Amino acid sequence: MLDKTIKDWSSEAAALEIEGRAFIDGQYRDALSGETRTTMSPANGQDLADVAVCGTEDADRAVVVARSAFESGVWAAMAPADRKTVLVRWAQLIEDHADEIALLECLDAGKPITDTSGGDVPAAARTIRWSGEAIDKVYDQVAPTPANCLALVQRLPLGVVAAIVPWNFPLTTTAWKLAPSLATGNSVILKPASNTPLTALRIAGLASEAGLPDGVLQVLPGPGGSLGRHLALHQDIDGLTFTGSTEVGKQLMQYAGQSNLKRTFLELGGKSPNIVFADANLEKAAAFAAIAVFFNGGQTCTAGTRLIVEDGIRERFVDMVIAQSKKWMPGNPLDPATTMGPMIDAGQLQTVANYVAVGQEEGASLVAGGKQIMLDSGGSYHEPTIFNDVDNGMRIAREEIFGPVMSVIGFKDAEEAVAIANDSIYGLAGAVWSNNINTAHKVAAAVRVGTMGINNYFGGDMTVPFGGFKQSGNGRDKSMHAFDDYTELKTIWIELD
Ligand code: NAP
Repeated sequence: MLDKTIKDWSSEAAALEIEGRAFIDGQYRDALSGETRTTMSPANGQDLADVAVCGTEDADRAVVVARSAFESGVWAAMAPADRKTVLVRWAQLIEDHADEIALLECLDAGKPITDTSGGDVPAAARTIRWSGEAIDKVYDQVAPTPANCLALVQRLPLGVVAAIVPWNFPLTTTAWKLAPSLATGNSVILKPASNTPLTALRIAGLASEAGLPDGVLQVLPGPGGSLGRHLALHQDIDGLTFTGSTEVGKQLMQYAGQSNLKRTFLELGGKSPNIVFADANLEKAAAFAAIAVFFNGGQTCTAGTRLIVEDGIRERFVDMVIAQSKKWMPGNPLDPATTMGPMIDAGQLQTVANYVAVGQEEGASLVAGGKQIMLDSGGSYHEPTIFNDVDNGMRIAREEIFGPVMSVIGFKDAEEAVAIANDSIYGLAGAVWSNNINTAHKVAAAVRVGTMGINNYFGGDMTVPFGGFKQSGNGRDKSMHAFDDYTELKTIWIELD
């Protein structure tokens, strides 16, 4: 992929055969209604493929198939070492088809090809391989009982799990859900976002090719409000794992309560603080302040959208970040030189434009960007945008914009920086930049978020859990901790004569 040009990628895109049917019981199938929806590329608004619109009847069929696969034990009762073999083979097949999948993700989500081929696809393969390789190394427990007893504490799969994922990291979040849920022996029904169903559908076929038994994995494209809701309310689904907005996450908790109390784990929104002290490496901090917000066009749950800067350096530092923001001017995602692509659709672009207006009305200083660009492209492109002189009470500091908009807030000392950082309904991620280990560590410890970087942003890999405090969710993706979301603990107490 390294030497490919925009021309190479464009001609490969033109030659792609795109699968848009649902994946049920090991086969691609049309929706029972026959209904389809044309999905389009956010880069230029052009049609990509007709995708099945699954309804409640498809969901019910998928649940029956998944339940039957689970009860048969064809996967759940398979030796963990054999499940590992299948998952590792699946990861390898994803790598073997890396360019095709990277291209699909680029076209479907508008993500730069450099990101999908260098980030999303390898990350998905790594996630599946890591979970597969881990699963035959997890031991259950024997409890510390009196000598006449033996108590086993076992970890068992939930049964049938529904996974509902968003459009901003379609492939990565799909892998974060599928790898641990399948590794632990569940049968799974995945509902991709309506905007971005293509890579999930593609890798489902590869899972079969890798040896995943029929019925263990279903992928159903369709609308969240009907299909997603039906899955969340279903009486025969045991677990629900979700990545998406806090608003929908709250509904899903209610659906679980209204139905069968299915185990429900949520990865939700954020308004993450990125705190910069005067004694930090400012060059590096400025580069990462821009990465933290403009990567993926700010359509990132962990985006460091509140840049909280020590008063004495704020003006100088903002100038450095403005200079960095120029590296993030959007472009055609098929161009390997592009760092930022379009917003996912016109609706998201409008949301960003509305918040830019709100920021100005609230009295913040617009110091960079603020406009839609590439108007003739057919896509929804927005400049990297920076507001200075933001108060943490303003809407642009409190609400998740999900676009390339940074709010810069000043602070006088560490105590105030922490107070501002924690004054949010969210608690997903954050970072602190300082060359004083005492300051950095104390601030990192005091900020109430699931992941905190010290002198980095977006740090982490498969070995560490990922998830939120407060209204950023519960449960954890990645690492061995993800297995907890997809398993029940069972005690077997034996009395010996
Ligand atoms: P969203 O609107 O909540 O949608 C997410 C998924 O839920 C989509 O598949 C959607 O289907 C479905 N859905 C919508 N309404 C539903 C309902 N009533 N019942 C069941 N399912 C429903 O979120 P989004 O706009 O796609 O994604 C952006 C959000 O995701 C942001 O808030 C972001 O912070 C969050 N996010 C969080 C993380 C994390 O790990 N914490 C990671 C990435 C993104 P349709 O596509 O058909 O509407």
